[in-house]
Amino acid sequence: MQITRLRLSGFKSFVDPADLRIEPGLTGIVGPNGCGKSNLLEALRWTMGETSARSLRGAGMEDVIFAGTSTRPARDFAEVAMLTEIDGTETEIVRRIERGAGSAYRIDGRDVRAKDVSLLFADAATGAHSPALVSQGRISAVIAAKPAERRAMLEEAAGIAGLHVRRRDAEAR
Ligand code: ATP
Ligand code: MG
Repeated sequence: MQITRLRLSGFKSFVDPADLRIEPGLTGIVGPNGCGKSNLLEALRWTMGETSARSLRGAGMEDVIFAGTSTRPARDFAEVAMLTEIDGTETEIVRRIERGAGSAYRIDGRDVRAKDVSLLFADAATGAHSPALVSQGRISAVIAAKPAERRAMLEEAAGIAGLHVRRRDAEAR
């Protein structure tokens, strides 16, 4: 699965609509402290169905909605649309949260359950807890790891960790 585009509105610091194209290959997010790099990663995980507000650095899920600044009023909803491509087929996943109304999900414009979004990403072997999403804190763990541990982390991120286990199983037979 390739994530090809991300549109955000009212999500955390992304108060104005933002439209990002994500090219194939490795994507890095760079910028000064506080510019919204981690918020962007959290937007990805949130759209894929993250249910833990704490892992999005909030006390409650509504904390992802733009909370306002000294010059701009708070928003009453946040919405993120993610465009994905699998084998040439495009799918759009949208998650929206409104104050007092909770989250709603859409796949290709149809209202769906959170579970349907989880299933979609599980089928594509990714999701909110995918080891391929390497957060800021874990980068230093990768650097500090011993070579064998680092290899295990990278294999996990690449989704091939299970292959060795399956191969060992096969060899043991
Ligand atoms: P660093 O380099 O320090 O890791 P970063 O680029 O990862 O920074 P983020 O943590 O993504 O930055 O963004 C932090 C900013 O987002 C802060 O200014 C914070 O006030 C703002 N922010 C977070 N949640 C909200 C919200 N609900 N409403 C408005 N602003 C928010
Ligand atoms: Mg950060």
